[in-house]
Amino acid sequence: MTVRTGSCLCGARAYEIEGEIGGVWICHCSLCRKATGAGGIAILIVPRERFRWLRGEDHGVTYELRESYTMTRCKTCGTPLPAETDEKNIYVTAGTLDEPLGKGIRTHIFCASRADWDRDEPDVGYFDERPG
Ligand SMILES: [Zn+2]
Ligand SMILES: [Zn+2]
Repeated sequence: MTVRTGSCLCGARAYEIEGEIGGVWICHCSLCRKATGAGGIAILIVPRERFRWLRGEDHGVTYELRESYTMTRCKTCGTPLPAETDEKNIYVTAGTLDEPLGKGIRTHIFCASRADWDRDEPDVGYFDERPG
């Protein structure tokens, strides 16, 4: 069975996921934009029984940002980490995976809230690293 691992930037928290993953969800809602400071959040939806913390299970801090919206971050480095607020699924922040996923984005949600800058301009530049 496929096992994937993920971790925060400082490495204090790490997890593993068993089995196949359907693809990445991107949430563009205003809460995800504010809470990440980015265009939204990239999520893998994983059934609870296939998710396991490897270390640092108690090394997170959960921010209650709205009644039904929380964000869990590593206590040391602040990386947004898998959310365990749902009874059935864990919402895993896709950027914390350690290795390539082999799958792309399958679903964009709250597109009506998408930031107007979250698109390419006609003269967009793509670089493998930072341009010199
Ligand atoms: Zn960390
Ligand atoms: Zn959202």
